[in-house]
Amino acid sequence: MREQKDVLKMFEILARDNPEPKSELNYTNAFTLLVAIVLSAQSTDKGVNKATEALFKVADTPQKMLDLGVEGLKEYIKTIGLFNNKAKNVIAMSEKLVNDFGGEVPESQEALESLPGVGHKTANVLRNVWFGKPTMAVDTHVFRLAHRLGLSNGKTVEAVEKDLLKQLPEKYLMYANHWLVLHGRYICKAQKPKCAECPLAQLCRSEDKNI
Ligand code: SF4
Repeated sequence: MREQKDVLKMFEILARDNPEPKSELNYTNAFTLLVAIVLSAQSTDKGVNKATEALFKVADTPQKMLDLGVEGLKEYIKTIGLFNNKAKNVIAMSEKLVNDFGGEVPESQEALESLPGVGHKTANVLRNVWFGKPTMAVDTHVFRLAHRLGLSNGKTVEAVEKDLLKQLPEKYLMYANHWLVLHGRYICKAQKPKCAECPLAQLCRSEDKNI
């Protein structure tokens, strides 16, 4: 594990370079954000945005999504991977939101995770981006970065999430998830990380560092 002063320095650099990072998914309200996150599993944000541009014009509430139905929804999202399952989940999720939550997206982790197709990570992303909660959603990028930067040795997503929440300076927790995802997506890629362009290179002790 890294010394706290090194961790602080890393996040000072990430914050300096991108003070207010944003989700790269397009959405218009809490519901469309939730749908976009569900659709983005194992798909690119760019591909999801392309499909949701037309979808959200006709279905931006749980009731409208329900009215569209599984087959109607599939027509909009058929360019996205796993669209058959995702369509079923989004409709089941919309139905539960209408029946049990008055058509509103709930704020609690527990209530979110009770929705079909919404797992721990999806709920964390939603709570962070929409409700401004300092959560840590460990996806493949965050998992890799946590190890390369020495922020966790955890073998599971749960262990890495716990380490990050403990290690990261509180004042950076709100945006830490975005910074790690963006850094992993564009610089510290799984194959051939772009170490020569990396603002964290001086602090990085990863075996994968190539400079
Ligand atoms: S120096 Fe290379 S391996 Fe280390 S964080 Fe930067 S891109 Fe990743």
